[in-house]
Amino acid sequence: MSSELTQADGESAPDTAAEIETEQAGIDLSNLRKSYGDVLAVEGLDLEIEPGEFLVLLGPSGCGKSTTLRMIAGLETPTGGSIEIGDEEVTRTLPQKRGLSMVFQSYALYPHKTVAGNLEFPLGKMDLSDEEKTAKVERTAEMLEIADLLDKKPGQLSGGQRQRVAVGRTIIREPKAFLMDEPLSNLDAQLRVRTRFEIRELQQELGTTTVYVTHDQEEAMSVADRIAVMNDGELQQVGTPEEIYKTPENAFVAGFIGNPPMNFFDVSVGMGVELLPNGDTATLDTSLPMDTESLGVRPEDVHLLSTPAEDVANVSRPDPRNMTNAIECEVTVIEPLGNAYELELARGDDTFIARLRALPEDVSMGSTVEVAFDRTELHAFGASGEAIR
Ligand code: ADP
Ligand code: MG
Repeated sequence: MSSELTQADGESAPDTAAEIETEQAGIDLSNLRKSYGDVLAVEGLDLEIEPGEFLVLLGPSGCGKSTTLRMIAGLETPTGGSIEIGDEEVTRTLPQKRGLSMVFQSYALYPHKTVAGNLEFPLGKMDLSDEEKTAKVERTAEMLEIADLLDKKPGQLSGGQRQRVAVGRTIIREPKAFLMDEPLSNLDAQLRVRTRFEIRELQQELGTTTVYVTHDQEEAMSVADRIAVMNDGELQQVGTPEEIYKTPENAFVAGFIGNPPMNFFDVSVGMGVELLPNGDTATLDTSLPMDTESLGVRPEDVHLLSTPAEDVANVSRPDPRNMTNAIECEVTVIEPLGNAYELELARGDDTFIARLRALPEDVSMGSTVEVAFDRTELHAFGASGEAIR
């Protein structure tokens, strides 16, 4: 599939592109279920993963991500439903017959084999000459920039280098799809960010369908073509990172995506919209659907009405016509982030978060400030958390 493309032979690229297209396999999950005794790990999951797509399964710990991935891999037998890979039904097919490659959270390399030996291992049973195997090992190592480590043993490598070898072992077989279960969770924060870009880059270069599991919404947002958000064994929403962020379909998705998370307010909709923190109501002057029970406001859509200092350049000031009525709050925490400030604001016992590009000079801990919300960015949710538009 990817072999010609990675030979850096520009002239052969147009021919191979078509060939690669035909090798990409979509993955179709229909009403997929898994229970362990009383525990429903995955409930009626319907998901169509496009050929060549980088799909991230995202959700909190225990929501059924690994179980889903393991069913795709063939390591768990579904309780119900079906799985197709490239239009072939594989629900009961043995893992090794599915043509997939999986990277786990804990990547076990063979400690006594060299990097080259580890990379070559998955090719063992394939019908290839020694020369072909060596060529594949070298090409994979070059792609991952570990060519100079081929003679080293895993014990001599850093965590990041070991992770590359593990990824190399996954791609060397040129599978129909990559399955990755929290592949970066053993790396430190900095390396995690770098490695996720590399995985994304590599995936784009190879064009291989990828299902990637993580509980980290920021990681999901940065690598995914589409994100499938799960909670409690159920699919909540599937969409591009932008769609999931801008138009969450329910309060769970709205609250799970975004850092700091969306603020939620209990409201009562009548003539205007009333915020209801502990009896101290305020009328927002905005029109929300009558059945709205809670209002979601992202921290970046909370605006301070105090005048910013003259010398604060580059502050994006929202259009005043889009602002709700002002509400009075007390600043209880100021967290400088270098390029922004996070403020915790309190109304009575209720607190919420504002994210500001700059801090007005007259605002400090304990200040009383007026804030308003950007009306065009409000999210309305009904009694069962469903988004109302
Ligand atoms: P995630 O990967 O999203 O953290 P999992 O798919 O591992 O979640 O688990 C989903 C649910 O299924 C959890 O409640 C978990 O405890 C349960 N579960 C997973 N594997 C097993 C198992 N082998 N036996 C019993 N329960 C399991
Ligand atoms: Mg898991």
